[in-house]
Amino acid sequence: MARLTLKNVFKRYRNKKNEAADYAVNDFSLSCDDGEFVGILGPSGCGKTTTLRMVAGLEEITRGDIYIGDTLINNLHPKDRNIGLAFEDYALYPPLNVYENIAFNLSAKGVAREEIDRRVREIAPLMKVDDLLEMKPAGLSGGQKQRVNIARALVRNPLVLLLDEPLSHLDGKMRQILRTEIKRIHNKIKCTTVLVTHDQLEAMSLADRIAIMNDGKLQQFGTPLEVYDNPVNVFVAGFIGEPPMNLMKVSILEESGKLFFLFPKKGIRVAVPSRYRSALRSGMEVTLGVRPTDIFISSDDGTGSEVTVDVFENLGDEKRISIDVGEEDFLTLMTEDERRYKKGEKIHLRFHEEKTHIFDPETGDRIQA
Ligand code: ADP
Ligand code: MG
Repeated sequence: MARLTLKNVFKRYRNKKNEAADYAVNDFSLSCDDGEFVGILGPSGCGKTTTLRMVAGLEEITRGDIYIGDTLINNLHPKDRNIGLAFEDYALYPPLNVYENIAFNLSAKGVAREEIDRRVREIAPLMKVDDLLEMKPAGLSGGQKQRVNIARALVRNPLVLLLDEPLSHLDGKMRQILRTEIKRIHNKIKCTTVLVTHDQLEAMSLADRIAIMNDGKLQQFGTPLEVYDNPVNVFVAGFIGEPPMNLMKVSILEESGKLFFLFPKKGIRVAVPSRYRSALRSGMEVTLGVRPTDIFISSDDGTGSEVTVDVFENLGDEKRISIDVGEEDFLTLMTEDERRYKKGEKIHLRFHEEKTHIFDPETGDRIQA
């Protein structure tokens, strides 16, 4: 086990005409603690796989340094990096049975037969493939193949385990089961692990810390709670959370010494939390961010305006209400309130003070209270 450190790593591919394209990975720095489970989360094409492949040594690093522990690994051959790798397309060797697939890399390295046997029989039950050792890959389900794939990565006792979308080919139920398994395995062997995914639920539930990437760049690195509660910019705010955060351009209005968010629809306003008092001035434009669960229907306290219910959906435990606040702007609100609201009904809103976010509409960066 070891720390994994990426320092200002860049990757630029060449296109077919051998011209340098944009950076696929752009000044990416990350430090994973010994034994930590880190998720790299971001939309498709943002550079996650490229990052992982550079760590594994399968892709040349355009610029920057990667360390495992104190060892600079930039120029180490992939097989000398002590990394276990499991990609989404579990390319198992079809003619070999499960035992031979798991053992393959150890055999290729010339590890003694008894040692291989000991390690395969140690890892197989951990990944729950000990009953499948004689089977060929063709007879396995997707979930079983991915278990074998991960077992194959773990059997090498790697310093760092890299998992690239290991659950993305699996159906919903199997995905959930294997997600729990991965967590359990990590708790047991505590190998420094980096899991790449575009699925926020996967990252949020598995990782100690999450690195959120967009367009080759690291946006934020923090615990699931930090990135959920304190997104550093509009991208993170909109990417994390389901249903997504309401994000809307509003202007600031001052009246009788009080500040209000003024919505596009004429006259609609909601009181600004007092902690933003010093950061805001009348006439400013900001991007307001508030999660559907952080908006409350309140009594008319004389400060905010009346708004209109547009759609009411009963989702069982929760009700979703869409509220008309602009020309074509709607705020979504989730409530556990038993009451049924009707289209056209007038209500008042209050925002959770600590959980109301504001961002610079130009840069997208959070405005500090
Ligand atoms: P992700 O895994 O987040 O979906 P990738 O790391 O696969 O993203 O890709 C990042 C960017 O690099 C994308 O724009 C992709 O088209 C480009 N890219 C990936 N692999 C290559 C390659 N071998 N040659 C050229 N461009 C590539
Ligand atoms: Mg990928």
